[in-house]
Amino acid sequence: MDSGLSDPLPPHVVFYPFPIQSHVNTTMSLAELLCLAGFRITFVISEHGHSRLAQYTDTLRRLSASYREEFVFKVVPDGLDPDAPRSDDNLWKIYDNYQKDAGSLFRELNGASPVTCIIADGLMTFSIDVAEELGIPLIVFRLIGPQCFWTYFNVPQMIETGDLPIKGEEDMEAFIRCSDLPSFCRVADPLDPFLQYIIAETLQTKRAQALVFNTFDQLDRTVLEHVRKHFPNVYTVGPLHKHLKLRLAQVSGAQSQVQFNSFWQVDRSCIAWLNKQPPRSVIYVSFGSLTRMTREQLMGFWHGLVNSGQRFLWVIRPDLVAGHEQGSEPIELRKATEERGYMVGWAPQEEVLEHSAVGAFLTHSGWNSTLESLVAGVPMLCWPYYADQQLNSRVVSEAWKAGLDMKDICDREVMQKMVNDLMVDRKEEFLSSTGKISKAAKDAVTEGGSSWESLDCLIEDIKAMRA
Ligand code: UDP
Repeated sequence: MDSGLSDPLPPHVVFYPFPIQSHVNTTMSLAELLCLAGFRITFVISEHGHSRLAQYTDTLRRLSASYREEFVFKVVPDGLDPDAPRSDDNLWKIYDNYQKDAGSLFRELNGASPVTCIIADGLMTFSIDVAEELGIPLIVFRLIGPQCFWTYFNVPQMIETGDLPIKGEEDMEAFIRCSDLPSFCRVADPLDPFLQYIIAETLQTKRAQALVFNTFDQLDRTVLEHVRKHFPNVYTVGPLHKHLKLRLAQVSGAQSQVQFNSFWQVDRSCIAWLNKQPPRSVIYVSFGSLTRMTREQLMGFWHGLVNSGQRFLWVIRPDLVAGHEQGSEPIELRKATEERGYMVGWAPQEEVLEHSAVGAFLTHSGWNSTLESLVAGVPMLCWPYYADQQLNSRVVSEAWKAGLDMKDICDREVMQKMVNDLMVDRKEEFLSSTGKISKAAKDAVTEGGSSWESLDCLIEDIKAMRA
């Protein structure tokens, strides 16, 4: 019998990621998890990102087939010409454009269907002003690890005590050296605009209702304790790529087929190549979606890899190297690569890392790559490029004992030795630590695990936000 009391409308959550590859992909995993919980999702995406997804993936079709009008995209301009690179200084132009349009965007979305909550990228806390003006609760999603967030949070204090700007390469505290600080903190002028931006964004987070991290408690327990003293509502729901797969599997009862939401054409031929290699014999090499390197650095890596004698699978994004003409490399490198290497423009990274032939990962230590490697139990050789990566690589090597940190060195001999340390001489030691972390990560996103429970809390707390 109808009691006359109908269920309240499901919450309407607007996701607002900064429109670069890793942020869009990870935010989409969180959005899909909330959609699975019965929420209505509006996902704001740039025209550029949307057209890339349409061109290279079946994401749009899959989401609309699975959730229909419960998961919709709001496509917005990013202010750049269609062919302009979405990297380096152009990222600031995108930021300015998003900031300029945020007010009208959220007014329009809220007018069309009242918004229960906004989940905004931690790089764009200007959205807190708009949310406050409209009376909509806002949660910040930080796509860096908690160690980096904590470091950013402490920058004003470090300036006050004279620890910043850094003077040399001395130790800071415990195992952090000056060279391990995020690149934005390693500047000479405390008024550096980037540093000031980092400080402002991090402090603004205090005005949000809550803070979400793509990590799990056991991985970052100590630093999370510090963060929680200043931010009472912290949700740790990661590793999200694994979490989404497990929840989807629970709903459909089958291994889920969810694919990476890629901005590039994935070259799957590397899986066929991996299938022919012996177990744990291949080092996978990838520097994420934004890293650039010089021809000299490319040659350093190439010689180091070839001289290590190990097999390698290498992602060379079309825009990775400035000033290198394909085919201009020394013949001995080309020959060795044909014998025991394979190169692609973009790989299905999660699948590659889970492949039994992969024994190590040469990475730029982006937060997503780091988590994906930990989940797969693959030891890392770290060559951090910028931002949080300098800190991530130190934590990988010193706190988690999950790999080795090359830092700024791109010397062929150092690299040759480190590859062999990782894959031969100290192989068992590294596999033992990454194996334990991998198990802990999977436990966290299994029913009853810490990230599973944290996501359930987030879901309930958003439901309670409905007026
Ligand atoms: N990635 C991929 N294929 C590639 C290279 C990278 O799918 O060939 C994905 C990778 O799995 C990760 C993301 O791109 O999820 C890179 O994110 P990360 O945070 O590591 O670095 P960023 O690109 O932000 O520097």
